Amino acid sequence: MHKEAKSSYFDMPALDVSVAFPQATPASNFPPCTSDYYQLADLLTPEEQAIRMKVRECMEKEIAPIMTKYWEKAEFPFEIIPKFGALHIAGGTIKGYGCPGHSITGSAVAAAEVARVDASCSTFLLVHSSLAMLTIGLCGSEMQKEKYLPSLAEFDTVACWGLTEPDYGSDASGLGTTARKVEGGWILEGQKRWIGNSTFADILVIFARNTSTNQINGFIVKKDAPGLQCTKIENKIGLRIVQNGDILLKNVFVPDEDRLPGVNSFQDTNKVLAVSRVMVAWQPIGITMGVYDMCHRYLKERKQFGAPLAAFQINQQKLVQMLSNIQAMILVGWRLCKLHESDKLTHGHASLGKSWITLRARETVALGRELLGGNGILADFHVAKAFCDLEPIYTFEGTYDINTLVTGREITGLASFKPAPVRQKSRL
Ligand SMILES: Cc1cc2nc3c(=O)[nH]c(=O)nc-3n(C[C@H](O)[C@H](O)[C@H](O)COP(=O)(O)OP(=O)(O)OC[C@H]3O[C@@H](n4cnc5c(N)ncnc54)[C@H](O)[C@@H]3O)c2cc1C
Repeated sequence: MHKEAKSSYFDMPALDVSVAFPQATPASNFPPCTSDYYQLADLLTPEEQAIRMKVRECMEKEIAPIMTKYWEKAEFPFEIIPKFGALHIAGGTIKGYGCPGHSITGSAVAAAEVARVDASCSTFLLVHSSLAMLTIGLCGSEMQKEKYLPSLAEFDTVACWGLTEPDYGSDASGLGTTARKVEGGWILEGQKRWIGNSTFADILVIFARNTSTNQINGFIVKKDAPGLQCTKIENKIGLRIVQNGDILLKNVFVPDEDRLPGVNSFQDTNKVLAVSRVMVAWQPIGITMGVYDMCHRYLKERKQFGAPLAAFQINQQKLVQMLSNIQAMILVGWRLCKLHESDKLTHGHASLGKSWITLRARETVALGRELLGGNGILADFHVAKAFCDLEPIYTFEGTYDINTLVTGREITGLASFKPAPVRQKSRL
């Protein structure tokens, strides 16, 4: 009897949040953009502004209503793939091969608009476009670009990008997966970890150490390659929609035609990372804009002590602090794009942008979480989801610390990544 009552209690469907809490509008009805206080549009070309508005409309109307349930279930919403295909944003800055050939600013503002509504969607897009497609675009042969890029640009196929390994995270240049030359191709052996999109990707860009040269090389591995195994990483607290995988490569044969000729050392991988770090820096910009927009609406709708929450000085101070952070983050992100467009972007610039923006973003989403009270921990009101999603972004594409050290190395000329070994015991 007792058991039955318990199970019927747990089986009860959850009350829709807009019925349970009609005092404020949930994120399925996404708030208007109030966070662009300094009017970024004035710094964009008409084409860049047009991409931005097109992506915003799609994200607010078509994606926002469905994301909370997928985030809660940690499942990938395959229904969004054709919508992304129609936006024609994959391949970003790549010219030709069916890619849009946008400016980096256009690509960055598009990524921010995706992240404003859902950071998992923007991560899915960035792994596919700014890591995997860009690697093929920058380091692939003419034949590889013609073969792979058009269907990736259309989202008829999906790609992932595998650098990190269980033993080599921040220290990715030391990676241990090997590539051994055999007749007609290469044999890959090793493990990868955290690889976004890998559980369903059609092609996997994989980095491995050439056993003859000891240098890092890049390979395109097909999803059905014998010896390849991908397993989903469960129980993440952020970017729950992104399907991150552990990859096992056991005697995987890759034909010569699928070795990327432009990846001959870790420096070549780093060229891709410098550009993708600019794109990743725009994710926290989009995330914090969405959080601010949600807080701005919520504080005007929800009343306590007979007044809207927006009327209290402490709440206004938090809103303004969030808004000022966002304006500064946008300007730094915009400047990164301009440095790239004028061929002046250095690794230090990109790393400083990514690390500083994620730091400010962490402060901003924490303020947003406070402002929503109890609903600040509920995915339905967006802020909690964004708060959790920012954590992995603070860590991937180089942690805050590693990006700081990249800039530190550039400005001092001294690398401080490896602790110096103590050579001998010092005598008193
Ligand atoms: C959700 C998610 C998605 C990801 N997607 C991908 C992907 O698609 N493809 C891919 O290849 N990788 C991916 N990654 C991997 C990501 O790039 C790594 O997690 C990141 O580089 C950090 O490596 P690590 O987790 O092994 O941390 P560790 O390297 O173990 O670092 C742990 C801590 O030590 C600090 N630390 C390490 N070395 C130093 C040092 N020299 N000086 C000071 N501090 C140091 C770090 O800053 C960090 O705080 C993803 C990760 C996550 C969480």
